[in-house]
Amino acid sequence: MDYQAKIAQNVAAIPRSGIRDFFELVQGREGVISLGVGEPDFVTPWHIREAAIYSLEKGQTTYTSNLGLLSLRKSISKYVENFFKVSYDAPTEVLVTVGVSEAIDIALRALLNPGDEVIIHEPCYVSYSPSIVMAHGKTVAVQTTKEDEFSLKPEAVAAAITPKTRIIFINFPCNPTGAVAPLEDLKGIAKLAIEHDLIVMTDEIYSELRYDGEEHVSIASLPGMKERTILLHGFSKAFAMTGFRLGYACAPQPIIEAMMKIHQYSMLCAPIMSQNAAIEALENGTPAMIEMRNSYHQRRDFLVRRLNEIGLDCHTPGGAFYVFPDIRKTGLSSKEFAFGLLEQENVAAVPGGAFGPSGEGFLRCCYATAFDDIRTATDKIERFVNRL
Ligand code: PLP
Repeated sequence: MDYQAKIAQNVAAIPRSGIRDFFELVQGREGVISLGVGEPDFVTPWHIREAAIYSLEKGQTTYTSNLGLLSLRKSISKYVENFFKVSYDAPTEVLVTVGVSEAIDIALRALLNPGDEVIIHEPCYVSYSPSIVMAHGKTVAVQTTKEDEFSLKPEAVAAAITPKTRIIFINFPCNPTGAVAPLEDLKGIAKLAIEHDLIVMTDEIYSELRYDGEEHVSIASLPGMKERTILLHGFSKAFAMTGFRLGYACAPQPIIEAMMKIHQYSMLCAPIMSQNAAIEALENGTPAMIEMRNSYHQRRDFLVRRLNEIGLDCHTPGGAFYVFPDIRKTGLSSKEFAFGLLEQENVAAVPGGAFGPSGEGFLRCCYATAFDDIRTATDKIERFVNRL
């Protein structure tokens, strides 16, 4: 059978993730120090795990409301109001999803008609463009640059807007650059969204992981923005809960209703044990989250200092747990650098090109890795660079 002819064209058009090839290679090797995977090295705090265990113990093993447990949605609404300074009505404006991943997918599917354009900033998280294509939309990638510390400039967004633009999709702090957007840039983007009557999707998954005492500001909290913003957030990063697969979307009721229709027929609901654990995370998890954040902060400072000493130019990112050093001086492409480093020194970091063409010339290093491993990895990177 010609299977290729059987696969939907928009799915066939999606390229394999550049990260996947790389990690297949990493998995085949022993003793690799990985700065590759974007996942906390902490186990989920015990009291949160315990809440999941109690949920099972009490026999809470059923479906929940499609929207998610009302008690969880109330906790989310309270947390979001406190942290993001935007208030959402728990019964109608909050949807609990299977990770931010699902929230991204169903938000795009709920809003896009074939050919509608979505502006994203690049380099960006690997799922954005494929999710847009799977929703029959068109990705319009706006490059961000090292010179602008990888923020998204309103002028660049303005130049990318066409009559087909429906959504501006942002992610600050950003995976893979760790960039945060200055308030001025957020205000400029908000102004454009209002002027052109666009929806803004904001992936806030790293928003608790801000350093240097900086407070996070979400575009959803700017004047006139709540009514046109879908705020996506979850538990994977700040609460070290990747395996729980839990996230949420907050948005005006008609948008949540449209997303809910897709969620109801595809996912039905998020797992109840994870939902119970998430309530515990929101109600009592902040001290543990702050401890993890302090630890990431120290590791970021060490890693940035060492990379600059080694001669790989690296700005100090304001958030998330990634640094994005410039490797162009070495004369290698990001793939050559990453594969060479793995081959010769058994250190894994992701080639910047995996995050879109504008990531070429850079390397993504995740510092949610044990301090000693980061220290050893930087010594090995130094040896690798000195040999070039
Ligand atoms: N958004 C960004 C920017 C990410 O980096 C990730 C995971 O790496 C996700 C979403 C996926 O999050 P979740 O585990 O909640 O599906």
